[in-house]
Amino acid sequence: MWVLMLLIAFIFAATTAEIMSTTYTLKLFWRNMQQPPLFLSTIFTYAVIKEYVSRSAQGLSRRLFWFSLPVLLDTLLIFTDSYHHWMRSEVGMVTEAGITGITVQPTPLSMAFIAYDQLFGVYAVYLLTLSVWNAPKYYLRRNILLLTGLIIPVASIFLLPLLKIKITGFTAFVYLPATLAAYFSVFRDPRLSIYPLAKHKIFEKMKDGVVLTDRYDIIIDINAAGMSMLSNITGQGQGRWMGQRIQPLLEQQLELRACYDSRTEGQFEIEAPGPDGTCYGVSLSPTEPDLEATGMLIVFSDHSEKKRYERELLHQATVDDLTGLYNRRHFMRMVQNHGKQAQGGMALLLFDIDDFKLINDTFGHLGGDQALVELSHKIRSLFQDIGVAGRVGGEEFAVCFFAEDELAAYQQAENFRTNLGEYVILLDGGHPIRLTVSIGIAYTERSDVTFEDLYREADEAMYRSKATGKNRVTLSSQPVARIALKG
Ligand code: GH3
Ligand code: MG
Ligand code: MG
Repeated sequence: MWVLMLLIAFIFAATTAEIMSTTYTLKLFWRNMQQPPLFLSTIFTYAVIKEYVSRSAQGLSRRLFWFSLPVLLDTLLIFTDSYHHWMRSEVGMVTEAGITGITVQPTPLSMAFIAYDQLFGVYAVYLLTLSVWNAPKYYLRRNILLLTGLIIPVASIFLLPLLKIKITGFTAFVYLPATLAAYFSVFRDPRLSIYPLAKHKIFEKMKDGVVLTDRYDIIIDINAAGMSMLSNITGQGQGRWMGQRIQPLLEQQLELRACYDSRTEGQFEIEAPGPDGTCYGVSLSPTEPDLEATGMLIVFSDHSEKKRYERELLHQATVDDLTGLYNRRHFMRMVQNHGKQAQGGMALLLFDIDDFKLINDTFGHLGGDQALVELSHKIRSLFQDIGVAGRVGGEEFAVCFFAEDELAAYQQAENFRTNLGEYVILLDGGHPIRLTVSIGIAYTERSDVTFEDLYREADEAMYRSKATGKNRVTLSSQPVARIALKG
């Protein structure tokens, strides 16, 4: 933009010099001096617009260099025209409106140079028109002002010959409204204090990964976060994703793929491979929802923290703090799910520690807590492979597992009871204690039994264990004696 402003200032200066000069040679010199900035200003207008409307103007300087080379040739030919007359068929002086200046008749070669140059002007108008069309309404006024300013010099090149205006300095004059329009639309806009790299920088600095694919599934735009997230998910090194296909992402994510292939909107959560538990929220949306052949916009956001928090909440909601076993509510839910999968019989065991108050009274509440933790370790080590275990009350525990029949369930419980009886718990302070439990068992082979029914039966059986002397196992449906006989 500043180069463009300098060029325009130079056009004004050289035009003034032409008008002020008194000899033909000087006037012609200053007229010739106007040509390079006139030509370059069109190319730089293109550059400014390009930078303004597209996020990335990568390689623009290099392109500007190559685009400007014909201008060098054009300038050379103009300055040496008096020797070969390739550029001008006629050069003279004309006085119009009291201003005397140079008038030239360009040759077809010179016209070709002008046409080459004007391509950039026309292209810039085209780019800006597209942008006016696509930009949010918020930018409408500014863009239209800019467009109007840009159209004046571009159109004047085509219109001036038709108007037959020969006033010297008119070309420079048409730049005045263009410059004013650029000034008011671009520099006076407080929102643009970060012009012209704002869009590009915002895009690149975003924490969310943004990936844009075209209808052939080629990545046509991607920001830095997008690249690192794609690499993280696909396990493909930090390669150049731009211009590559999006397939590596879809190959591993079936749901995502289905949504992408059907060109519909969707939200997903996917986990990156690796131990750090990185989790991404992925949102898909077609860029042109009305068309079947549309590209897709894919936005990744890091959900790892949210996921960790969710896991923590889930843990807090389902697991008992002290023992690490499932809490009552979650145990119930697990048993209900367990029941649905049951193919044979299912057993529910309830344990209540015998005379636990005594332990609390003797060793304090902390001693009691330690005993509870030790017992839960024992329960887990014996039952975790065959079923689910939970802490369903203060010193009451429950286990649910599949069993072939009541007898098998009974034997499991007996096995636990005797095992526990031999186990010495060493409390802090070196006090050895033994725990005994009273166990009640409910057993069912029906799938329509509710948890409450099962629990009630096991509870009753457990109380019978208590009532008949503690430290024993009772089946809800059968007297212990019969089981003992069978065993
Ligand atoms: P019983 O053989 O009849 O079961 O006698 P008990 O002493 O075990 O009686 P009960 O089952 O009614 O006693 C429950 C006791 O467990 C009462 C309570 O103080 C204690 N308790 C409950 N939750 C906790 C806990 O989280 N930590 C500790 N230390 N004690 C607990
Ligand atoms: Mg109790
Ligand atoms: Mg008890």
